[in-house]
Amino acid sequence: MKRVYNFSAGPSMLPTEVLETAASQMLDYGSSGQSVMEMSHRSKVYETIIGDAEKTLREIMDIPSNYKVLFLQGGATMQFSQVPLNLMGESGEADYIVTGEFAKRASKEAAKFGKVNIVASSEDKTFSYIPKWDKSTFNPKAKYFHITSNNTIFGTRFTKWPETGDVTLVADMSSDILSRVIDVKKFGLIYAGAQKNMGSAGVTVVIIREDLIGRAGANVPVLLDYKTQADNDSLYNTPSTYSIYMCGLVFDWIKKLGGVAEMEKRNNAKAKILYDFLDKSKMFKNPVVPKDRSMMNVTFVASTEELNEKFIKEAVAAGFVNLKGHRSVGGMRASIYNAMPREGVEALVKFMQDFEKAN
Ligand code: PMP
Repeated sequence: MKRVYNFSAGPSMLPTEVLETAASQMLDYGSSGQSVMEMSHRSKVYETIIGDAEKTLREIMDIPSNYKVLFLQGGATMQFSQVPLNLMGESGEADYIVTGEFAKRASKEAAKFGKVNIVASSEDKTFSYIPKWDKSTFNPKAKYFHITSNNTIFGTRFTKWPETGDVTLVADMSSDILSRVIDVKKFGLIYAGAQKNMGSAGVTVVIIREDLIGRAGANVPVLLDYKTQADNDSLYNTPSTYSIYMCGLVFDWIKKLGGVAEMEKRNNAKAKILYDFLDKSKMFKNPVVPKDRSMMNVTFVASTEELNEKFIKEAVAAGFVNLKGHRSVGGMRASIYNAMPREGVEALVKFMQDFEKAN
């Protein structure tokens, strides 16, 4: 068996150790005589799986006790609707910073439910930077202020958070949750699809301050009201049982390696290897403003379109897969989430050096 280095933006690589544990527990989880996939979500054994996953996540993210952790479905995309449906309230106004495709989608969805104020956008330069924001343009009547902490497609990230005062800060952290230490208290709500840094696709984690629960209007569908799952420990209906189990294994893995601070250290070191090479290369370049570079998604282009294509083709043959950039931007993108080992990045850089020499 040969495993490739998978640079996919998500679903993406999982730690080998986690996959091995899942494999060893596939037919018989904890002497229950069943696979986790076959268990009732109402069984004691499953309650322990979901309960432990939450407990470990609370521990590694240092989530305060006045926040609920929810395991939901519908992807981060569902949160583009669920956030406004729950938080916009009577005044129906919200602030958004638009730093990429997903931030744009989130703001467009919110605009169906109320008035959206775009505080800043970097669309003028193909989202290659994080725009400056001017506090005087914040809407004091906004019910929340939404950002996308890391922009998966364009390879940028916020390095500081807007100071929004009494206005609740909401963040889509789909592509950088658990990759760097964040102060949960600064946010009223954090959401993230699991398929990048947390586990397998099918579950979306929402971390929400308790006072924000129960604000949905009477016509909001039951599953889109945060209160429904908050009151039922995410077991109002059948959750994505196996994906939550996988998240639990990944949380354990992070904890064992030294927690999120250790992940951050490793991620910074991994990204530096790639960016240092890109900055020296005569063939490849990274199109992002250096101070706003993502540590998770490293985008790059070769000097011609032919070279981009040749590179992607040869990379696949050499065991480096999913390096093609998002269809909207082209070029290449190496997603190097927590589970990508340093050796994978080193091997990629070596491959890029050889490619550059040969071409
Ligand atoms: N937000 C960000 C930052 C993302 O990267 C993605 C998916 N790549 C999404 C939202 C959409 O997530 P989903 O596919 O889980 O709906």
